[in-house]
Amino acid sequence: MEDYNMPVTGTDIWYYYICHREVWLMKHQIAPDQEDESLDLGRFISEIYYRRNKKELSFGNIVIDRVRQEDGQLVVGEVKKSSRYMKSATMQLLYYLDYLRRMGIEARGELLFPEERKKEVVEWTEEARVELERAVKEIQRILRMPVPPKPKKIQFCAKCAYREYCWAEE
Ligand code: SF4
Repeated sequence: MEDYNMPVTGTDIWYYYICHREVWLMKHQIAPDQEDESLDLGRFISEIYYRRNKKELSFGNIVIDRVRQEDGQLVVGEVKKSSRYMKSATMQLLYYLDYLRRMGIEARGELLFPEERKKEVVEWTEEARVELERAVKEIQRILRMPVPPKPKKIQFCAKCAYREYCWAEE
């Protein structure tokens, strides 16, 4: 079984499914371009805003946005500004569900998109566990790299805090 007592966070999982280079840059505390106003930082600001207005639960290396009980089952909610990066958001929430499960707590998840008035139910599965173990190993491998993975042009680059850093010479 994979050791989850390592500093891999839900945010690492989120970024892993967007850009491997960004996982490395964030974790190595490479400062993004502070002058750039259109960036990904907007996403953080929005999320901080949401976090201030709700109860969150923090334990180990995970922070859960919302927790409630329904029909005797724990329901874990993750709030997102947009459903655009659904795969990342789903895997992040599954990581929390898997983390809880390893502690003997069976929970189901809900992705909440208040601005879109949308909610998606996320359930833990054995396939998700296997996929997460692979992702965690891969994140650890990326973080051990002496230099970040090479940039790959993706849609997210246009909003990314590191776009100048990655593409300045273009
Ligand atoms: S600009 Fe693109 S390649 Fe560079 S870190 Fe951001 S998403 Fe990744």
